[in-house]
Amino acid sequence: MAFPQVEGVAPGSPAEAAGIEVGDEIRAMNGSSLRDVIEYRLAADGATVGLELGRNGATFEVVVAKHAGEPLGLSLSAAIFDRVTTCDNHCAFCFIRQLPRGLRRSLYVPDDDYRLSFLYGNFTTLTRLTELDLERIVAERLSPLYVSIHATDPAIRAGLLRNRRGATSLRWLARLLDHGIEVHGQVVVCPGVNDGAVLDDTMAGIAERFPRLASVGVVPVGVSRFSSEATIRAHTADEVAAVLDVVEAWQERFHAALRRRLVFAADEYYLLAGRPFPEPACYEGFPQQENGIGMAAAFGAAFGAAAGRRPGATGGLSRAVDGAPALGYRAPRGAAPLKPSGGQLRPAGAGRPVTILTGAYGHKVLRPLLDRAGFGDVATVAVANSYFGGNIAVTGLLTFADLARAVSVVPGDRRVLVPAVCLSNGRFLDGPAPGDLPRAVEIVPDDGASLRRALAGEGAGRAAVPAGRTAR
Ligand code: SF4
Repeated sequence: MAFPQVEGVAPGSPAEAAGIEVGDEIRAMNGSSLRDVIEYRLAADGATVGLELGRNGATFEVVVAKHAGEPLGLSLSAAIFDRVTTCDNHCAFCFIRQLPRGLRRSLYVPDDDYRLSFLYGNFTTLTRLTELDLERIVAERLSPLYVSIHATDPAIRAGLLRNRRGATSLRWLARLLDHGIEVHGQVVVCPGVNDGAVLDDTMAGIAERFPRLASVGVVPVGVSRFSSEATIRAHTADEVAAVLDVVEAWQERFHAALRRRLVFAADEYYLLAGRPFPEPACYEGFPQQENGIGMAAAFGAAFGAAAGRRPGATGGLSRAVDGAPALGYRAPRGAAPLKPSGGQLRPAGAGRPVTILTGAYGHKVLRPLLDRAGFGDVATVAVANSYFGGNIAVTGLLTFADLARAVSVVPGDRRVLVPAVCLSNGRFLDGPAPGDLPRAVEIVPDDGASLRRALAGEGAGRAAVPAGRTAR
């Protein structure tokens, strides 16, 4: 087991006062070694915290006195200190297996770890969950969790996961729900495999066995040009419409039975079908916005709202966890916010014409929104994702390579806005940072209110990044 390393010490924090330094290893807290950041947070919660630290080959002890519940003030090198539980499935639709070589190593980790589900909202199939894991989840109330269902028919689910344990691992879902753990599910729809009658049967299975699920997201399979799976393909137009019909029919049934819709289709389905998005209230608090469900409705509502507050939305694609960085492609997006200067931050060059770079789906959402709101002079560029190819059109998977090409043809007198969702820990998926782009850009947070403020020149709350400088 690796010991967590201190990567940051908050100025003025109890940890700084106790002399803890960047680079120190935490070998134990309150006499016990730590498996993960969840145990760290529990151990750090009390009024007196004993730490066994390693520094320059020596081990020494520190006792920190603070208020109970007060943060210790450390950021750590990882979230999991023993070993991330990797999945034992071989899903044909796995996006990790469709990634090209050369991306960050963490992107290739096929985790199936309930702890990452709790910390970052990663979906787990539960095929590797154990009785001890369940006991810990229940004892420590590790809730909510996110579970990949895909199909409730045992044979079909095992076939989708290409793992015989897929046939039985939903028994854990029933037990989690029995213990009052909040669980959100998802169904990744692969046309010809688990759509049509299978999707209908899955909805019936959820109604019968798992009606206490907090929500279920239905999302289309992503197919990159690197996929070598013959059975995996994008939906046809008819298949898109049929999925929406199944979801909407079951929304009505669930609403009649449970007074809530429970199941929601991804925004991508509405865009592909050319159907209007449901009203924001239909998303019942946006429980799966980070899964691309209700994102457009929440964005539009926030963009239009004078106060600029998102209606019941969570942190968009920017889920932050106390104490440790995220892993993989769910890492916190964007760069650190700029501190307001004199109460307002005005981006350099405010008043100049604006161009927004976005993905093909983002463009379909943004363009009508801007036109309706009187921002017809704001240009939007639908950046094609030639890096991943296939049917990948979400803004969050745009890479430096494609954005650099797009930004280089924007006239020099324009401000260029880039959505923060394209970044992960300040870098694009393929490695470079905004400062490496051939010209200056402004990074705008993922919500409609921030975009509106940026367009009005009131300050997007994010750094304008000159070319040749890396955003921190
Ligand atoms: S469970 Fe997830 S990570 Fe594992 S193979 Fe399936 S899609 Fe990939």
